Amino acid sequence: MNWQQACELPYYGGSDLGANPAAEETVFKLWAPTACGVVVCLYATGTDAEPGAGERGVHELHREADGVWAITLPGNLHGTYYLYRVYFPDGRMQEVVDPYARSAGANGQRGMVLDLTRAAPEDWDADVRPAIPPHARSVWEVHVADFSADARSGVRPEWRGKFMGFTQPDTTLDSDGAHPTCLNYLKGLGVSHVQLQPIFDYATVDETRPDGGYNWGYDPQNYNVPEGSFATDPFHGEVRVRECRAMVAALHRAGLGVIMDVVYNHTYYSESCLERTVPGYWNRRWPNDSMTNGSGCGCDLASERPMVRKFIVDSVLYWARTYHIDGFRFDLMALEDVDTMNAIRAALDALPGGEDILMYGEPWQGGSTRMEHGAIPANKQAAGLLDSRIGFFCDNTRDAIKGGVFNAGSAGYINGDMHCGYQVLHSIPAWRGGQADFMPQAPGQVVQYVSAHDNYTLWDKLKCVARRGDYAAPDADLLAQNRMAAGIYLTCQGLPFMQGGEEFARTKHGDHNTYRGPLELNRLDWTRAAQLEELVQYYHGLLEIRKAYPELSGMAGDAEPCILSLPGWLIGFVPERRGESLPGRLAVYYNPERTRQWAALPAGSWRYLCDGTHAAAEPFGPTCRNAIELAPVSVTILKVE
Ligand code: CA
Repeated sequence: MNWQQACELPYYGGSDLGANPAAEETVFKLWAPTACGVVVCLYATGTDAEPGAGERGVHELHREADGVWAITLPGNLHGTYYLYRVYFPDGRMQEVVDPYARSAGANGQRGMVLDLTRAAPEDWDADVRPAIPPHARSVWEVHVADFSADARSGVRPEWRGKFMGFTQPDTTLDSDGAHPTCLNYLKGLGVSHVQLQPIFDYATVDETRPDGGYNWGYDPQNYNVPEGSFATDPFHGEVRVRECRAMVAALHRAGLGVIMDVVYNHTYYSESCLERTVPGYWNRRWPNDSMTNGSGCGCDLASERPMVRKFIVDSVLYWARTYHIDGFRFDLMALEDVDTMNAIRAALDALPGGEDILMYGEPWQGGSTRMEHGAIPANKQAAGLLDSRIGFFCDNTRDAIKGGVFNAGSAGYINGDMHCGYQVLHSIPAWRGGQADFMPQAPGQVVQYVSAHDNYTLWDKLKCVARRGDYAAPDADLLAQNRMAAGIYLTCQGLPFMQGGEEFARTKHGDHNTYRGPLELNRLDWTRAAQLEELVQYYHGLLEIRKAYPELSGMAGDAEPCILSLPGWLIGFVPERRGESLPGRLAVYYNPERTRQWAALPAGSWRYLCDGTHAAAEPFGPTCRNAIELAPVSVTILKVE
């Protein structure tokens, strides 16, 4: 199906696709304009292997306007499982799960009619998004299973690795009462948002077995259904919904926002339910009709086609409304087109409080794709075309600080290649000077980071560059580099982001791609968090400084920082506040040298907020004037008295 043929299909603008149960009836609607017949098959269970399995009837849908097939059945069918059979003029029949299904049975094999009021945790009506000012935002990324799977996490066994693992308060390491873990730990860390690796239903973990495998989840199956392996019961579709919402509510009660990692760039199966419902419509194709593979996972979705765009916008809105999600991280965002991203932004902005819902993504592709009709990829070069509140991960900052991700041994500014200082200088005002091949409109568009789930953990990367083999072993030199890396991106303008556990030197023992597990290599090691408590406290201090001094973020329309003139590879700057003609109240220094260095201070008397080892929002230590001695491999932050 080419662009012209796709555009000739009718567009349906209604917001009622899917199965909508009401008190007396349930309405089913499916967009399938090329079909010649559609029936809905109802079942008692999500698979035939379960007790009580059996058919609950087959009903023929009728054709309505705009390519929609519909039927109204008596009764509230909450808890009924269903499939569509879609018939085509050439005699083929496809059995599909409803792309708009709100829940599903085990392994997503059948959709489930869901009455949302019957899948709400206690006090769900009272759940509200925490109010977090833009300058105080910082993101901590984690996978649901990794968060609480550690047997020493203090989380009750049946909740470990599940959505519910986020809901248990006051957990400590081995219940020793001294070292907080999981939610209890996050409350005190100082980050504002938790970004969850995929929580929608993905394909490769067998939900029916406790040892059904491990995956990061970038293999989407049912976009509007929570993943079943994270539920305490994957067989009853309302449980995963209720428990996913309970997780969000618990994080909200702790004052934390919840960001969802979404993967609208591809379908896991080339014969996905979308593709089988309207063959040829959903995926991008080359002229020879093979599907494009810009995702590296096969089967790119054609976001620029009208009903694909609508599906993505509808899905994001559904999660925002139904699960009170506070932000969306778009996997391989450059496979989405600019207009789709801006349409999502506009739709979120129209929700109550929706302007505060974050949007950012990876501004790259994993291979080549084929956007039609002049659609523009949402990459860094499109920063000026995207809404200024759609951000992107800044690989320029990431690689400048600690070395590139494609060569394990390549160093950055903090660990041996001080020439990267030029890029670090540009990172400070969030690349707003256009020194690279992109031009951000605002600091908030730039996600500043050195580690994420992809590639080495920061600690393992530092080990690789230093050629020090024992990944778990502490190392004073590398701890200094770790502190310096954090000190840099947490004093740069933009949105700071970190892989969960970066703050306790998380190691995956030199494995740079653990997407298929094992869990033992991926899970957060809460014993290590206790052992590296000083590093955690340092991060906490930096995060508190970030909250207390809004000018660091540049989010309030602040000017670019004033760069100080310093010798060699030292960098120093004074953040300036919006509209203020007075000199700034902070001074920040980066010393990448392995020796102590003297640097001139701006006029005034200064005290430490960060001396390279300790960080706090309240000044400490002696008063300094004229000049200061900087620790080797360190970030120093001073406040004027
Ligand atoms: Ca699944």
